[in-house]
Amino acid sequence: QKKILEIKHLHTHFFTDDVVVKAVDDVSLVLEEGSTLGIVGESGSGKSVTALSVMNLLMGTKGKVVEGEILLNGDDIVHIPEEKKRELRGGRISMIFQEPMTSLNPVMTIGNQLIECIKNHESLSKKEAYDRARNILEMTGVPRVDKMMKEYPFQLSGGQRQRVMIAMALICEPEVLIADEPTTALDVTIQAQILDLMNRLKEKIGTSILFITHDLGVVAEICDHVAVMYCGRVVETADVYSLFGNTAHPYTQGLLASIPKLGEKVEELTVIPGNVPNPRHMPIGCKFSPRCSYAFERCFQEEPRFFEVAPGHLSRCWLNEPNRLKPCEEVLPQP
Ligand code: SF4
Ligand code: MG
Repeated sequence: QKKILEIKHLHTHFFTDDVVVKAVDDVSLVLEEGSTLGIVGESGSGKSVTALSVMNLLMGTKGKVVEGEILLNGDDIVHIPEEKKRELRGGRISMIFQEPMTSLNPVMTIGNQLIECIKNHESLSKKEAYDRARNILEMTGVPRVDKMMKEYPFQLSGGQRQRVMIAMALICEPEVLIADEPTTALDVTIQAQILDLMNRLKEKIGTSILFITHDLGVVAEICDHVAVMYCGRVVETADVYSLFGNTAHPYTQGLLASIPKLGEKVEELTVIPGNVPNPRHMPIGCKFSPRCSYAFERCFQEEPRFFEVAPGHLSRCWLNEPNRLKPCEEVLPQP
């Protein structure tokens, strides 16, 4: 399978007044052509910063890619002039966010925003641009397309705005679409429709998707591969079947346990106890050790590296070291 997006040993740091926060710390990921890669983690895990690094949208923040490579279809997209980066955005790579209102222009009609998107990247006649805008809007399944072309964002529902955002992101047929929690603000029914829409358009347009979420339930719906992030690192990565069928890392197990089951009340949710550590006081060994119920001595001293638990399935946990028994098995009475 062709690698459409390749992130190699990415380090993105934030330079605050008194401390350097390693928001992304040696992350390597591969997005295969035509597939969807989910990046999962709590807030502060580095998943959004990874996306912003790929989009080259760290300008104006205190963040900077300090090391590593990001290749789009083999082309380096980090060490290129700002002008070239601008060309990539919305053209070869585009992004949708959780709150479409922040990315839509409130005083411009939907039609004109879509047309402007095309014109930023391609030279088409007015008629061609209009037809293409109308066509992609129609593909998103919104009702009364001609009317909506003339409407303003505030006249639409949240679900409709998200569809318009998706249309805007895909109108130039990008090689990669990055979606950062695009359905989090929507209710469950609309959420399912939007995921379905993304799947359909992905097939039609041939875009590959980097899907960022805190919700493993959503990952199961839409992703082919998954990378679970914690404290700026990938802690577990696998194809979606192996990740759910053979979950290796205690943090992923915790995330899985916190997916609400049908009919379960929200108060009954199992959430992983404790918080993501303060970047000023990062644990020395495994970054998850303060919250991990399996933690043992070594976890507090030495950071685990990746171990391959199945072909292509990596976990950064000492429990996954080959030939090692889990502590719970060690204390079980032997038959
Ligand atoms: Fe838990 Fe230790 Fe594994 Fe970290 S290395 S996840 S602390 S068992
Ligand atoms: Mg985020």
